[in-house]
Amino acid sequence: MRCLVTGGAGFLGSHLCERLLNEGNEVICLDNYFTGRMANVNHLRDNRNFELIRHDVTEPILLEVDRIFNLACPASPIHYQYNPVKTIKTSVMGAINMLGLAKRVKARILQASTSEVYGDPAVHPQTEDYWGNVNPIGIRSCYDEGKRVAETLFMDYHRQNNVDIRIVRIFNTYGPRMLPNDGRVVSNFIVQALKGEDITIYGDGSQTRSFCYVDDLIEGFIRMMRQDKIIGPVNIGNPGEFTMLELAKEVLDLTGSKSKIVYQPLPGDDPKMRRPNIDLAKSALGWEPTIPLRKGLEKTICYFDELLKK
Ligand code: NAD
Ligand code: UDP
Repeated sequence: MRCLVTGGAGFLGSHLCERLLNEGNEVICLDNYFTGRMANVNHLRDNRNFELIRHDVTEPILLEVDRIFNLACPASPIHYQYNPVKTIKTSVMGAINMLGLAKRVKARILQASTSEVYGDPAVHPQTEDYWGNVNPIGIRSCYDEGKRVAETLFMDYHRQNNVDIRIVRIFNTYGPRMLPNDGRVVSNFIVQALKGEDITIYGDGSQTRSFCYVDDLIEGFIRMMRQDKIIGPVNIGNPGEFTMLELAKEVLDLTGSKSKIVYQPLPGDDPKMRRPNIDLAKSALGWEPTIPLRKGLEKTICYFDELLKK
């Protein structure tokens, strides 16, 4: 298969490119390098089945491909809030351009959607039939609403033009190749612990998230694209739920760091809890995560430890 991965030089995208190449596919990695790095895919550049294109998904592009994985979009709040207008353009115009391409070349296309479509959820754990509780005018809206519109576009291209779509809703995912200054909680805590800096908990640390290790997530992507039973949306995440205080303590324990925990103001609209119900992924894809938080954190700590020594 010839696969296009938008956002392919980013954290998840680079792992996906690697996995697709290992399975013998041709891979075109498309990225504008906003939060992605050439370094994430440098080791793939000698592979004759790999091609790199600098391009912005808000502009149309014509390519001959069989599969499209649409991941282009900054995922960390500090990055997606840096230029919120560009963030929403990336989600909405990016979806239109990639769906147009899929329609034209009859490619199967997967959207990397997010648990943020559930907003600050009133249903817990979140099931795919929950419509969410999203503020349309807050500081997270450029991301949350952009992703919601993208889902709408995917469903409408499917109903109206019969485009072969798949939608996965990704819950907080972590692992090697996150940026040290990415701003998301796992990378922040690990980098702070390794440098002996204060661990910054926003709010009182009682808010919860459910963290999925990257390899488990990529397996979910692959299974979703391989099957013909369901188009989604399907939750892909690890149901293990932790408070931010528990996460901080786990990181301190695993690194043996003497860092102090400090409390900083909670950003606006920060969801209080989040945990996926993965019954659908289990029954339709035979998928469930295999790597518990502690094991995934160990691997991620090793990665950042090496990176910070460079
Ligand atoms: P990331 O920021 O590392 O990767 C995003 C990639 O998209 C980067 O390489 C960036 O340069 C590229 N990009 C951004 N805007 C672009 C544009 N206009 N044109 C072309 N490329 C562009 O983030 P990630 O964690 O790898 O996330 C990948 C996808 O998965 C995103 O769509 C994100 O919304 C989704 N997602 C991730 C998580 C998670 O926890 N990691 C959770 C939910 C959803
Ligand atoms: N968070 C924190 N300290 C940090 C970064 C984030 O306490 O240094 C909190 C943040 O307020 C949120 C949770 O950790 O409640 C997860 O944040 P992240 O940005 O990783 O993901 P998201 O909020 O998008 O799920």
